[in-house]
Amino acid sequence: MANQYMQEEDDAILKTYNRYPVVLDHGDGAYLYDPEGKKYLDFSAGYAVSSLGYNNKEFNDALKAQIDKMIHTSNLYYNTTCGKAGEDLKKITGMYKVFFTNSGGEAIEGAIKTARKYAYTKKTGRYEFIAMENSFHGRSMGAVALTGHKEYREPFEPVMPGVHFAIYNDLDSVKALVNDKTCAIILETIQGEGGINAATKEFMQGIRKICDENGILMICDEVQCGMGRSGAWFAWQQMGITPDIMTMAKAIGSGVPVGAFAMTKEVADNSLVPGDHGTTYGGNPLCCAAVSKTIEIFEKEHMLDHVNEIAPYLTQKLQEIVDTCDAAVKVKGRGLIQGLQITKPLGEVTAKALEEGLLIIGAGTDVIRMIPPLVIGKEQVDEMAEILKRALA
Ligand SMILES: *Cc1c(COP(=O)(O)O)cnc(C)c1O
Repeated sequence: MANQYMQEEDDAILKTYNRYPVVLDHGDGAYLYDPEGKKYLDFSAGYAVSSLGYNNKEFNDALKAQIDKMIHTSNLYYNTTCGKAGEDLKKITGMYKVFFTNSGGEAIEGAIKTARKYAYTKKTGRYEFIAMENSFHGRSMGAVALTGHKEYREPFEPVMPGVHFAIYNDLDSVKALVNDKTCAIILETIQGEGGINAATKEFMQGIRKICDENGILMICDEVQCGMGRSGAWFAWQQMGITPDIMTMAKAIGSGVPVGAFAMTKEVADNSLVPGDHGTTYGGNPLCCAAVSKTIEIFEKEHMLDHVNEIAPYLTQKLQEIVDTCDAAVKVKGRGLIQGLQITKPLGEVTAKALEEGLLIIGAGTDVIRMIPPLVIGKEQVDEMAEILKRALA
């Protein structure tokens, strides 16, 4: 049966991904199942999206109720869900205004346009961006231009001009690129795709200072590391800084495709106005219901406390693997966005884990990424560690 689904997908879907040979059908908690009922422990959460795990009844019921009321209206009209979801995001980000998008890449596009429009309004003549090596910001042309992976960018050149790449956690390399054309500095607070690299406080605060001293905007991409995964709502909140613009997506709708960018009052008052930007689905009632319900459940279930309780245990288990297993080198990241640097080929290890019923993905060239649903318990960490040890042996 599984083969038939794979064949259909291979026939119909443009091959831009190398899929693992597994067909998923349904899930429950931190586990996913194939059509024959084989069980998989999920430590990838659909790329850090499914933070509530699968089949959360309260979440599903809220979505079903919203579907019965109304799925879509467009931005021509007010609706009964959008303001609430916006307020909810304002509350957890501390930002002044929010714009809903359909994805992380689109949130990045919005952040780029906001920064450019800010410079236009202020007549600064600034248009350049400083981004980071090994960054990932999505697949749209603007996002690709900011992505510090040559192989993601090169086939699509010429991309948006005026982007310079600094070395992550190297403040001098940022300083060296600043000039009177620099419009914004963009970075992930914890690099996800690039190998689970966490920015240091000194780096984040140093960038904030450079921005303040030079009239440059600071943009934090929290698409992957945000929404509770770091142990705070957003990872920048642990760094003693506030960005001017931030992006989010992935986990904010628990699997319903929704993203957002948000900004301070200074930026909101001097950037996008009616006619400058839009999106047909953005702020759609189904997505907004998903965002509000996700935040409600996070609060009710004390999800941040749970992440902060379980994360040290994950670190400890990964460190045990480093201590006992030759192929494991180093533990990276924090919260439930951690990485295990290894010396064996990533593909080999993830394939072995898959055979044993563990879903893990790589990051960078040599890091196993640990981005499970945030609801995991110690039992699941133990289960993962046992399988991973065997896969690394
Ligand atoms: C996934 C990701 C994006 C792009 O999000 P999409 O929803 O895939 O467009 C942007 N930034 C970061 C940090 C990401 O991890």
